[in-house]
Amino acid sequence: MKAVDAAGRYVSTPAAQRFASQYVVDTVTGCWEWTGSLDTYGCGRLRVDGRLMQAHRFALLLAGVELIPGREVVPRCRRRLCVNPAHLEQLTRSERQRRQSRAPRNTRPQVEG
Ligand SMILES: [Zn+2]
Repeated sequence: MKAVDAAGRYVSTPAAQRFASQYVVDTVTGCWEWTGSLDTYGCGRLRVDGRLMQAHRFALLLAGVELIPGREVVPRCRRRLCVNPAHLEQLTRSERQRRQSRAPRNTRPQVEG
C-alpha cells in the first residue's frame, strides 16, 4: 500500500482518515482544534506508519507543504491545538522565541512624540 502520492503527500491513508476524525472546526476563528491524543508538551500527536508524529506536522504534510528540517511548526493563531495548515508556520527556534516574547497584538500602539 502506498502511503504517499508522487508529490509526497499522504493521501487516503488510514492515518489521514484518523487525522480528519480527530479535530473540530471552530467556525468563528477557522481553527481546527485537535481532539486526539497529546504528547508530554500538550501538543497533538498521532501515529503515522507506526511512528508518533506531531499533529501539526502531519497537517502540513497533508496540505502538501514540505517540512523544513530543524524548524518548529507553530500555529500563528496562538492556539496550541490548532492543526489548520493555513494557520501553521515553520519557524526556527529563535524566531519562535522572538514571536512568543512579543507583546500581544491587541495592546494599543504607543504614540510617539
Ligand atoms: Zn488556528
